[in-house]
Amino acid sequence: MSYDSENIFAKILRGEIPCDKVYENDHALAFNDIGPQAPVHVLIIPKGPYLSSNEFCANATDAELAGFMRAIHAVAEKAGVLDSGYRLIANAGEDGHQEVPHFHVHLVGGRRIGPMIKRVD
Ligand code: AMP
Repeated sequence: MSYDSENIFAKILRGEIPCDKVYENDHALAFNDIGPQAPVHVLIIPKGPYLSSNEFCANATDAELAGFMRAIHAVAEKAGVLDSGYRLIANAGEDGHQEVPHFHVHLVGGRRIGPMIKRVD
C-alpha cells in the first residue's frame, strides 16, 4: 500500500480542511481528535507523507524524528499532563486497527486511562 495524498490528515496539513490545532513545529502538527476518548485526546502527526509507523520509523530523517518526539513532549506540557501521566497510542495496519493512513500518535489523558488492552484470544 502506498501513501494516499487524499487522506484526511494530508488534507489538514495542506489546509484544505480545518483542525483544532494544539501545537506545530517544523516537522509535526498536533490537533484535538474529533472524537475524543478522554478529556485530553490529541493527535500528533508528522508533516511528511508517512503512511504508518513502519515508514516513519524506517525512512524519516533524524530531524523529522526529533521534531516529532519534541512535539509529543510539547503537547503533553501544553495539555498539563506531564506530571499526571498519559498514554501514547500508535495504531498500525489492519491488526493495529489504523483508520487514517497517515502516521499519527494519539496522546490521551486527563483521567485514569486504565489497563492497556484486554487479552481476548
Ligand atoms: P486511528 O484509528 O489510529 O487511525 O485513529 C484515527 C483518529 O482520527 C480517530 O481517533 C478519529 O477520531 C480521528 N479523526 C478522524 N478525522 C479527524 C479530523 N478531521 N480531525 C481530527 N481527528 C480526526
